[in-house]
Amino acid sequence: EKLIWQLRGTICNQKDCPFCARRLNAEIRLKEIFDFDSFRVYEGEPLQEEAVKSAIAGESLLAVFPTGGGKSLTFQLPALIAGESVRGLPVVISPLQSLMKDQVDHLEERGIPDAVTINGLLDPLERKEAIDRVANGRASILYISPEALRSATVENLLASRNVVRFVIDEAHCFSSWGQDFRVDYLYIGDFIRKLQERKCSGQTIPVSCFTATAKQQVIRDIQTYFRQKLNLELKLFTTKASRRNLQYIVLFMQNDEEKYNEIRNLLQARNCPTIIYVSRVRKTRQLADRLARDGFAAEPYNGRMDSREKIRIQNAFLTDEVQVIVATSAFGMGVDKPNVGLVIHHDISDSLESYTQEAGRAGRDESLQAECYVLFNEEDLDKHFVLLNQTRLSMNEIQQVWHAIKEQTGRQGRVSCSLLEISRQAGWDDTVTEMETRITTAIAALENAGYIERGRNVPHIYANSIQVPNMTAAVKRLEKCERMTESQKTTAKRILSYLISRKNTCRGSSETAESRVDYLADRLGLSRKEVVDSILLMREEGLLADEQDL
Ligand code: ADP
Ligand code: MG
Repeated sequence: EKLIWQLRGTICNQKDCPFCARRLNAEIRLKEIFDFDSFRVYEGEPLQEEAVKSAIAGESLLAVFPTGGGKSLTFQLPALIAGESVRGLPVVISPLQSLMKDQVDHLEERGIPDAVTINGLLDPLERKEAIDRVANGRASILYISPEALRSATVENLLASRNVVRFVIDEAHCFSSWGQDFRVDYLYIGDFIRKLQERKCSGQTIPVSCFTATAKQQVIRDIQTYFRQKLNLELKLFTTKASRRNLQYIVLFMQNDEEKYNEIRNLLQARNCPTIIYVSRVRKTRQLADRLARDGFAAEPYNGRMDSREKIRIQNAFLTDEVQVIVATSAFGMGVDKPNVGLVIHHDISDSLESYTQEAGRAGRDESLQAECYVLFNEEDLDKHFVLLNQTRLSMNEIQQVWHAIKEQTGRQGRVSCSLLEISRQAGWDDTVTEMETRITTAIAALENAGYIERGRNVPHIYANSIQVPNMTAAVKRLEKCERMTESQKTTAKRILSYLISRKNTCRGSSETAESRVDYLADRLGLSRKEVVDSILLMREEGLLADEQDL
């Protein structure tokens, strides 16, 4: 790998080397691969080109480009070049599954079919296919979520390829000063270090980080993180680029009714693609419905919605079928729509950072004059404090998690258990989505303070891929089965009937969680071992498919 990289991956600086002059030439490849004539310039500085060239030269870097500035291309171009010249695999870590899918689709539209994503939205067969494509070398760029790095399958997979670079998109997620801190990001450095050690090549894998957040603390956090974890100095590419085509306007409003009338007036006056931000999930639907009744093509968008619904609405907005989106801050990361002319904040954002991100989704097309309104009422501030307090973890709660983990580890000092088990042990009774985030966060706090170390994920056993059409058929098969005792049959029936009814009623994101063994056990009041035994039996009997990676 090292030799091939020296031969084909690095620019040799000999004047008449046709390979380097063509194949490793940023401008030529920009035209060939993306059909663009020139790199983007921010505030007169050719930062996109500089960052691309820095990556081609094998450096580690941190690029701060404005939203819509073209960060994806900046890492895709060198990634694709490396993929081709040394058959290397660049790995892109991105926080949102829908974002990854978008980027893979975009590349496909450009005739680049070799981008692959491995994330939780894939069903087991798609996942297997994605893994195969990486393993057999066809994939030239891999998008994965930070959570996926905890999987042994993914680690083995990456160890089998020549990983030429880690790209971290939305790198502000490293920093608690950013608007979007992700606990999972903190594992990335450990993962890269382990992978390097495993390869024993003595080579460090370069890293590129991308964000639109220019906040000093965030930049410092990212740089410090990589310096401490991997001894890497990230070369900084940043500008003070200001958006000149956005106008910011704050209107003081007495109450929601006044806000509504103002929104209607603005929508009528501008009549252009519009995003309205509200702070609460419920409000997205209320406001969208009311606008729809008043004749505007409006749809809601929030993080609690079914992922297919989210994708549908996002696409309808991108194709101008829907002109107005009423959304929480969940909407917009990676939404690449040039002609948004109006962003209205019905409620203020939770931070200035979030505000610039959200308002910045207007006027990506620089020739467009866009307006950003904040409809402001003193009371809105209180709403935020209430919301902030809801998501806050108290010291007491962190202690409960600590005790629960100690309870589980006993004397061994080492345990593998699910978030759900910890949560039940701690005496929590939250909904699945909230509980998972809160427990993960508490664990990260404990890890940060040096109390525990969180290792790799132990694969979940999924009890999906049912091989019988319905419950009647299942019962028939079970009755005939001689190997199972009556009580095993009863357990099997309960599990199957639960899975089948889930399959029919739910296609949401909780689907995978609910078919996980620990959740099944919890829901059906069985022990984990009973569920696992039953599932293994059903696999042997052909009632459940025996797929790899289930
Ligand atoms: P962000 O920086 O917010 O991630 P994207 O990577 O989504 O932005 O890019 C926004 C748009 O800019 C994309 O449609 C992309 O094709 C376009 N773009 C990026 N670089 C160039 C370029 N050099 N010339 C023309 N368009 C570009
Ligand atoms: Mg982006």
